[in-house]
Amino acid sequence: MTTAAHNAPQTAKAWRNAVFGMGRYRSVLAITLFSILMSDMITGVIMSVFWWEGVDVLLKSLLVAAIVPGIVAPLASSFVVKLLLELEDLQTQLLEMVNRDPLTKVYSRRYLLDCLEIEPARTLRSNEPMSLLILDVDNFKSVNDCHGHINGDIVLKKIAQICESTLRPYDVIARFGGEEFVVLLPNTPLPEACTVAERIRENVANATIELTSGESIRSTVSIGISPFIPPDPKCINLLSRADKGLYKAKDNGRNQWAIAD
Ligand code: GH3
Ligand code: MG
Ligand code: MG
Repeated sequence: MTTAAHNAPQTAKAWRNAVFGMGRYRSVLAITLFSILMSDMITGVIMSVFWWEGVDVLLKSLLVAAIVPGIVAPLASSFVVKLLLELEDLQTQLLEMVNRDPLTKVYSRRYLLDCLEIEPARTLRSNEPMSLLILDVDNFKSVNDCHGHINGDIVLKKIAQICESTLRPYDVIARFGGEEFVVLLPNTPLPEACTVAERIRENVANATIELTSGESIRSTVSIGISPFIPPDPKCINLLSRADKGLYKAKDNGRNQWAIAD
C-alpha cells in the first residue's frame, strides 16, 4: 500500500531531479510562472464563484494576483534553489571523501568492501567470472627511509596512476592500506587476470618516478591473484587467497605475480 508518507521521499526526489535538470535560472523561472498560475487560478475561482462583480474587476484581480508572486517567488525560489544546488554539491564532495583515498585518489578501502558485498550476487546472476588482485609495493619502507615520506607518497601516487591507466574503466582499484592496493576485475577469468597482473607489473617496473629532489627512481610491485569461487558471500576467501598469492610472489623474489596453491 502506498501512502503519502511513502510517496514523500519520491516527490522530493522528483523535485530535486527537476531542479538539477533545468539549472538554477530556468528553475526559478518555472517556479515563478507556476506561482503566478496558481495565484491567478485561485483568485479567478474565488472571484467567479463567491465575489462576482463583472469581468473588469475579475481582470484587475487577476493582475494583482499575478504581481505579488511575480515579485516574491523569484526572490524566495532563487535562494532555495541556490541552497539546494549547494547541498547537492556538498553531498557529492562528501561521497568523494568517503569513497576515495585522499592521497592516491583511487577508491577507498570502504568503497572496495562495499563492492565485495555486492559483486558476488551480481556475478552469480550474470554467470560472469570475476578475479581479484592484491598489489604490494616492494621494499617500500626503504623508499621512505632513503628519500623521506613525501617522496614515499609520490611513489604511491605514481603507482596508483599507472594501475588506473592500465585497467579498464569498470575495474575497481582501491588503496587497501599503506602500500597495498586491491584490484577487482569484473567479468574476468583467471588467465585474463594474470595478463592484467603482468601488464601492471611491467608498467610499474618500467616507469621512472621523479622525486622532489629531481632524482628519478624505479619501483616494483608483487601481485597475488585469485579467481572468484562461489559461494563466497563477502569475498572473504577471494581476498585471503589473493593474499596467499601475494606472499608467494614475495617469497619467490618480488616484482612478479603468483596464484595461491
Ligand atoms: P615488502 O617488499 O616485503 O612489502 O617490504 P616493504 O618495505 O614494502 O613492507 P613493510 O610492510 O616493511 O613497509 C611498508 C611501509 O609503508 C611502512 C610504512 O611506513 C609505509 N607506509 C604506509 N603507508 C604509507 C603512506 O601513506 N605514505 C608513505 N610514505 N609511507 C607509507
Ligand atoms: Mg605491505
Ligand atoms: Mg611492501
